[in-house]
Parts: sequence; C-alpha cells; structure tokens
Amino acid sequence: MLNLFGLKGKVAIITGASSGIGQSMAVGLAKAGAKVVVVDIMNLDETEEKIKKCGGECKKINANLFEIDSSINKIIKETLKNYGNIDILVNNAGIQRRNPAMVFSDKDWDDVMQINLKAVFKLSQAVAPIMEKNGKGKIINMASLLSFQGGYTVPAYAASKGGVAQLTKALSNEWAKLGINVNGIAPGYVATDMNKALIADEQRNRQILERIPAGRWAEPDDYIGGVIFLASSASDYINGEIICIDGGWMGR
Ligand code: NAD
Repeated sequence: MLNLFGLKGKVAIITGASSGIGQSMAVGLAKAGAKVVVVDIMNLDETEEKIKKCGGECKKINANLFEIDSSINKIIKETLKNYGNIDILVNNAGIQRRNPAMVFSDKDWDDVMQINLKAVFKLSQAVAPIMEKNGKGKIINMASLLSFQGGYTVPAYAASKGGVAQLTKALSNEWAKLGINVNGIAPGYVATDMNKALIADEQRNRQILERIPAGRWAEPDDYIGGVIFLASSASDYINGEIICIDGGWMGR
C-alpha cells in the first residue's frame, strides 16, 4: 500500500505554500516522502519548520508569480540544481478580488487571470518536457467550486477557475500518452485567509454553512489526502479529472 500512495524519492514543486491549503499540502507531500520545493511570494519559514519537524525535506523559493517568466526560470533552475528532477507540480497559488461585475477593474481582472490561470499554464508548460523525458509526471491544479458555479461578485475568479478546469482537461488530452497525469482538486469553502471576508459576513457565513452537507467549513488539512492520491501512482489511470473535496456541496 505504501508503494501505491508513497512518494519516497519524488520531487514535488508546490506554489502558494506559505499558508492555507498550500502549506498543509506541502507538509503532507513531505510526510509521504517527497522532497518538496515550496514556492511563495511570502515568507516560507513556517512551512519549512513544519516540514522539518516531521522529518521531511524542503527547499524554499521566494518568487512573485506576477513576474512570471523570471519566476518560472528560477523555480525550474533551483529545483533541478537542488534535487536533479521534477516529478510532481502542484499549481496552488491563487488570489481573489471581490467587486460587483459592473465596477470590476481591469487591474483586478488581469491580476486574477495572471496568477490563477496564466501562471498555471506557464509552469505546467515548463515542467512538461522534464516529465516527458522521465516518461511520467503528475500535475495537480487547484480548481474551485467556481470552476462549475458563478459565485457572487467574483467574476474574474470564477472565469479563471473555470479556465483552470478546462486547461486541466486540455493539457491532459495532450500529455496523458506521455505518462503525465494532469488533474485538479476543487476545494469547497475552506477557512483560510482568502475567505476572511466571507467568514466575517454573518449572513453569508450562515448561508454557506447551511448548504454544506458535512456541516462545517473545510480545514486546509482536508486537502492532504487528495493531493497525495493525485501525486502518487494510486492515480496513474486518472486523467483530466477534477476531484471535488467540498463536504458534499456539489451534490446538493
Ligand atoms: P491563501 O490565500 O491562504 O494562499 C494562497 C497562497 O498563494 C498564499 O501563500 C500567497 O502568498 C500565494 N500567492 C499569492 N500571490 C502570489 C504571487 N504573486 N506569487 C507567489 N505566490 C503567491 O489561499 P488558499 O485558500 O490556501 O488557496 C489555495 C488555492 O486553493 C488557491 O488556488 C485558491 O484559489 C484555491 N481555493 C481556495 C478555496 C478556499 O475556500 N480557501 C476554495 C477553492 C479554491
């Protein structure tokens, strides 16, 4: 069973790993045996500390995905220099901007598209030739319930996450035959920084909770099982799939 789900010796890159879901998944990947390259614009010391505490190994890379080409060069170069290979990429970094569609600014639109969609494509494009050479690889994109639904006052986020779901399928169609599994995870409502505004809004918070069959917001650690599954050989025949980890939200 450990061979099926274990990640011993694998090299995993994960973006947006300084907090929230990304930090939890980074620690989970390390616990499963992967050497983890943690990438973020913010300080990564806490993530490193958590990984080291559980006996794992990691390399921190500070990069701003708004500076997309230089960041990607840095991520690939430093990963290969430190660990010599790339087996797993988790495109987790994401941002949110809330405003009614009629007054939504160009800047907010472009920012969200850049981090949530373009960086996902460009980073996937950069690791794919290395995975092709290996004859295998795992790319996991963080989608959202808003890959399927429209949400309120988040037009760019919904468009970007709809795009992530379609991009996941498009890349999977081209790369599955190379041994590269491209899949996604669609989290439900997770109690992280990204949702501070929703959690603080009593009415929205109550409406959201009433709709979640599991009866609670997700915690970042709820995503560890899913990412290990999609990063491991247990998911070798899963291609272009978006797995909802949402406490049952999409079933209602
Ligand atoms: P978060 O805000 O806690 O974490 C996002 C991380 O991305 C942060 O560490 C942030 O510093 C990093 N980041 C932002 N801009 C960056 C940049 N320019 N360069 C490098 N790193 C950057 O959010 P989270 O809730 O943990 O979300 C993680 C992923 O899951 C995102 O893709 C998000 O869209 C998705 N998601 C979250 C929820 C939720 O309810 N929280 C729901 C669905 C999908």
